[in-house]
Amino acid sequence: MTKRHAEIAGGGIGGLALGMMLGRHGWSVRIHERSPEIREIGAGISLRNNCIAVLEHYDVFPRLEPLGSKLRMELSVDRHGQVMQRRQLSGHFRTHVFPRQSVVDILAQSAREAGAEIVTASHITGAEPSGALIDANGRRYGGDLVVGADGIRSKVRMALRLSARLSERGTQVNRYLIPTRSFTSDDTMFEHWSEGRRVGIMPSGPGQTFVYLVMPRRDRAACALPLDTRSWQRSHPTLADAFEIIARSDGTQYPYNVVECPRWSAGRVALIGDAAHGMPPTLGQGAGLTMMNSHALAEIVSGPRPVEEALADWEQMVRFISDRTRRWAIRYDQFTRHWPLALRPLVMWAFDRFPILNERMRIADQGLALTPVRLDKRGRLDTRAA
Ligand SMILES: Cc1cc2nc3c(=O)[nH]c(=O)nc-3n(C[C@H](O)[C@H](O)[C@H](O)COP(=O)(O)OP(=O)(O)OC[C@H]3O[C@@H](n4cnc5c(N)ncnc54)[C@H](O)[C@@H]3O)c2cc1C
Repeated sequence: MTKRHAEIAGGGIGGLALGMMLGRHGWSVRIHERSPEIREIGAGISLRNNCIAVLEHYDVFPRLEPLGSKLRMELSVDRHGQVMQRRQLSGHFRTHVFPRQSVVDILAQSAREAGAEIVTASHITGAEPSGALIDANGRRYGGDLVVGADGIRSKVRMALRLSARLSERGTQVNRYLIPTRSFTSDDTMFEHWSEGRRVGIMPSGPGQTFVYLVMPRRDRAACALPLDTRSWQRSHPTLADAFEIIARSDGTQYPYNVVECPRWSAGRVALIGDAAHGMPPTLGQGAGLTMMNSHALAEIVSGPRPVEEALADWEQMVRFISDRTRRWAIRYDQFTRHWPLALRPLVMWAFDRFPILNERMRIADQGLALTPVRLDKRGRLDTRAA
């Protein structure tokens, strides 16, 4: 059988991971990244059990692990430092935190080792369902499989005219990667709540701290960059000293976005990652879902069936996890912004008291057990087993 070829738009976490996976399955792969280098803007990232399990499956995690921090516990506390919710981060809730750049560096290295070609400064502007990407110079790149891994504002998705919707929620997050551990626990993530504002603090690899500040967009003082130290010290008095340190670092700013895409493929073209299911990062699952879905995609399209049919099977198998997680991620965002202050401790207590609630909301954390890819002898998805 001749080697099959994939063209991927986007050299972020999704495009690089899928490139590595397809390369390992014997495909020739080209990844187009519009930036002049493989670069991740913005601080740290927490990788959950499902993401780690996929990286372990491809033996990539041992390289990445020393660059991050393993968390043992997540604590949500109120403005006075009182604990509202406590979660053990073990079993299928295990979590590691990394500087984002480390994650893309290791994925890019692994993709290249698997034979993928990464072309930087290659701006993709369109795609054809028959199996091609088009770049800004009008050049056409044909493939047996074509993938849009080009993020929230995916050009590939737009070209497929799938009637997708991109909407911005009224929440913003400012993120920082700070070269100190002076106000950070070695193995615990803290989330400090005060009215509509939240401050997350966690270790992110040797000598570094990942901090995020979340707030409603209408809260101008909270959104401001550089940091309005006084305003944050008023809402979070227990972190007064930490804000003096945070204010010395550069922050990056993002709105919460949601992508609703009725289909994830057309012909030989598939969408993965934020291009397909962008969601608020409230559950820290964007990269985890991207990784799980990419793994399932690589396995299914590497079977004997025509790519178009394999893509339909793939979506049928994995999509419900992303859809459910996105709904919960939106609910969580609504809860932190709109619910009356008096009711929030009750909800936190309920999630603390009844683990089943966390299991439901965090369904994706269960990982590969949810989507075992089993193909029958003809390469069809064996749904009886799933
Ligand atoms: C504030 C915030 C915090 C988050 N925290 C977490 C977390 O803790 N844990 C977690 O799992 N997830 C988190 N996520 C989600 C996670 O970052 C994304 O789900 C993940 O990065 C998706 O990867 P992707 O490859 O699909 O998209 P992206 O990371 O957006 O990568 C897309 C790539 O495509 C390139 N590109 C775009 N357009 C083109 C084009 N036309 N041609 C060529 N290249 C193009 C871009 O330059 C980029 O490199 C967070 C997201 C945000 C916004």
